[in-house]
Amino acid sequence: MSSNGNKLELPASIVIRDLAQKIEKSPIDLIKKLMTNGVMATINQTVDFDTAAIVVAEYGFEAVLEAADEAAIKEEAGEVPLWRQMIAGEDEAQLKPRPPVVTILGHVDHGKTSLLDAIRSTEVAVGEAGGITQHIGAYQVEKKGRLITFLDTPGHAAFTQMRARGAQGADIVVLVVAADDGIMPQTREAIAHAKAARVPIMVALNKIDKPNANPDRVKQQLAELELVPDDWGGSTMVVLVSAKQKQGIDDLLEGILLVADSNGIKANPNGKVIGTVIEAELDKSKGVLATLLVQNGTLEAGDVVVAGTAYGKLRAITDYKSKSIKKAGPSTPVAVMGLSDVPSAGDIFQVVKTDKEARILVAGRLEAIKTQAQARKKVSLEDLFANVQAGEAKELNLIIKADVQGSLDPIVNELNKLGGGEIGLHILHAETGNIGNNDVMLASASKAIIIGFNVQADVDGRRLAEKEGVDIRLYEIIYRMTEDIEKALKGMLEPKLVEKTLGRAQVLQVFTASKFGRVAGCKVTDGELKRGAKVRLYRGTDTIYEGDLSSLRHEKEDVKEIRQGFECGVGFKSFNDIQPGDMLMCYIVE
Ligand code: GDP
Repeated sequence: MSSNGNKLELPASIVIRDLAQKIEKSPIDLIKKLMTNGVMATINQTVDFDTAAIVVAEYGFEAVLEAADEAAIKEEAGEVPLWRQMIAGEDEAQLKPRPPVVTILGHVDHGKTSLLDAIRSTEVAVGEAGGITQHIGAYQVEKKGRLITFLDTPGHAAFTQMRARGAQGADIVVLVVAADDGIMPQTREAIAHAKAARVPIMVALNKIDKPNANPDRVKQQLAELELVPDDWGGSTMVVLVSAKQKQGIDDLLEGILLVADSNGIKANPNGKVIGTVIEAELDKSKGVLATLLVQNGTLEAGDVVVAGTAYGKLRAITDYKSKSIKKAGPSTPVAVMGLSDVPSAGDIFQVVKTDKEARILVAGRLEAIKTQAQARKKVSLEDLFANVQAGEAKELNLIIKADVQGSLDPIVNELNKLGGGEIGLHILHAETGNIGNNDVMLASASKAIIIGFNVQADVDGRRLAEKEGVDIRLYEIIYRMTEDIEKALKGMLEPKLVEKTLGRAQVLQVFTASKFGRVAGCKVTDGELKRGAKVRLYRGTDTIYEGDLSSLRHEKEDVKEIRQGFECGVGFKSFNDIQPGDMLMCYIVE
């Protein structure tokens, strides 16, 4: 491989367009290079790392596998699935089979949501008439007298996030592939995630009702990705379904039970109570609402639960049908109330004996967060790169506040994607709610920047931030935020300019001076005016001129500045439309 030592990090697979962008070459050029290497690919096609490495070498880059992918591959080599690790202390003899927990992954528009709806509606049809089920992020269906738990936030972002926190929500991945579209980039990604998590994959070949459905072509593609279909002699179960026409749903559910049986999914219903937070939010009237998936033991109303740094005695437990229940065994998703704080999706929860024990555990965790935080240094986003160049900062610490948990997760994911470069990016704290004193204190202590998404900083918080010099940045659009952070990380963010008002004056009369055209005779009402500073002229609420204060006179003398109470003549370069009564504001930009 030719190389000039220009290292280029690449993922396990990459779309041609993205690859071209990475090396700043035209995609056409890249496609031609691929062709000369015997690979025919279009701009939207994905190539694997090895292929990408060969072409980028032609441009003088040495490809290295991205750290994250390397970790995934290393992890893949491990043996024990995460849920097994979670019940590591249990006596094998006490373990009993439990319902499998299933998550649905796949490329966008291949029918994940439709399939979840179809499964849920077939069950509701057999269950209570017209039963409207509450959305809590998970539901259960019954098949052959056995239960199956579905997580109903599809997509691998949620799946990966759980894993990142050390939890494994799902026991089985159902990979949805549209029979008319075949394997797409996100299908590959989903496979990579499931493999890295060592979760068995089965395939729902969806949209078989479509005239252009081609199941055999998809099976071929699956086989090429080492998911050889069972009817081709392989070990991957492939079920043909139509979410739209509710076809094949029974087969799919039966298939899930078979996969569950062959994987020996177990827990000890009488063991230590432990599980994963599926989702959580703050309800204005009910307080913290959380969906917990019990993974071992049996959760009961009145239990004291610790989830991340949130804790509390569970006041009420309801199932996904909003029915109040007293106990929830392994694989049961439940909605609970009574936690002190909003935990994060993917946090592992446990039951402790007393409130006191919970408080001690949480205090320890908070202390750990604080000491981690204190070890870091203060920056504003604009100063970041300068500090890095001065050798004063090597990382960017962020505190993220968002309106709802649902926007928090994608923000954290997007930001995490920006990390890994020369400047480390750490998210110290991410939660829902407005920016308050506590956030500012944490930011100040840990030299962090606060990012608010669709939230405000409350008055006290803002005041404290000014005092402590904490940078608060508010956004309403995710990409604007990621764009700013990315620019800051690359040292391209323009310094933030702040206007500082010097003084104001009122125009009393207007006269003509040969040199400047029309001149405003003014009285300074507050502060001062300075020659060379910026000036803005208002008529009522309209701004009618913005520019430099180019001439300033007091009683026919040129002066540099003039203070409150004095009269003066002000001239503006090439602007003559001045009227008595106009207000003038003099300011500088720092
Ligand atoms: P998701 O992005 O994977 O959640 O996909 P959706 O469930 O939103 O489905 C995407 C589109 O495909 C929607 O317009 C669905 O109506 C359609 N769709 C889903 N399943 C089927 C199916 O089995 N047959 C047909 N013909 N269309 C389907």
